Amino acid sequence: MLNLTRSVLAVMTLALGGSAAYADFLPPNHLDRQDNMRTKRAGTMSQATFNAVIDEAVAYYGPYLKTNFGSTFVVNRKWTDSTVNANATQFLSTWTVNMYGGLARRPETTRDGFALVLCHEIGHHLGGYPFVSSWAADEGQADYFATLSCAHDLWKDQTATNALSRNIIQEYPKSLCDAAWTNEADQNLCYRTMLGGKSLANLLSALGGTVAQYETPDASIVPRTNHAHPEGQCRLDTYIAGALCPQQFDASVIPGKDFGSKRNSASAETASGKYTCLQQDFNTGSRPLCWFKPLL
Ligand SMILES: [Zn+2]
Repeated sequence: MLNLTRSVLAVMTLALGGSAAYADFLPPNHLDRQDNMRTKRAGTMSQATFNAVIDEAVAYYGPYLKTNFGSTFVVNRKWTDSTVNANATQFLSTWTVNMYGGLARRPETTRDGFALVLCHEIGHHLGGYPFVSSWAADEGQADYFATLSCAHDLWKDQTATNALSRNIIQEYPKSLCDAAWTNEADQNLCYRTMLGGKSLANLLSALGGTVAQYETPDASIVPRTNHAHPEGQCRLDTYIAGALCPQQFDASVIPGKDFGSKRNSASAETASGKYTCLQQDFNTGSRPLCWFKPLL
């Protein structure tokens, strides 16, 4: 009976255009078995920090979603849940993100890395073309939005905090930021974003048994856009691209969404080019070809 009820609910949810299946941060995994809360190892991120990161995003995106889309932004704080993941759902005008303590407590997850996971989930809601479902941006696009738009919007005025990254950023990513940005404040924001992205790349490495480094971009070229989770190196490349792209993403527009069934068309790509770096127009900062196949 319970299963039947669940099935009915699942069908109803899908029929109404809501689903979490496309919008996880990570593929399914068993890292929850290593959670501090179970093993009693020393914790990394505190619950206070977990809440502060979420508060910051809710303070910005709550009013934003209400004003621009008439939507209610809900972030569920699942601190005691050991799941190492995050996900997003939409049900009518309620746009939800679920954040788990298991991900926050991973040793690889820094405060800013955790914020970028939240930004990734917001990116499923707002990132636009290319899409994996009627409403959700692709995994790669959610990553791109996280650093191009969300980190920029949440952190741009935190100039003193951003400046701290200047002291710890490594030489190579610093050189990438300095080539893309001439203003010191923009450079600092870029460094901070790079460091947050690397935190997530380290987590993806722990999950996939791979290594992701700033200096070793994924050279593969997909024949068609990958709508699923790219490999860790490819995802780091996407975080880097978002940090380097000089375009202003207008998060009150979901690029391509109004194209309906043609939301993954060349026309949608053209529409997205107003807010993102298309390869034909920019030498750096475009979506990496390890997951994205340009149509233009
Ligand atoms: Zn995702």
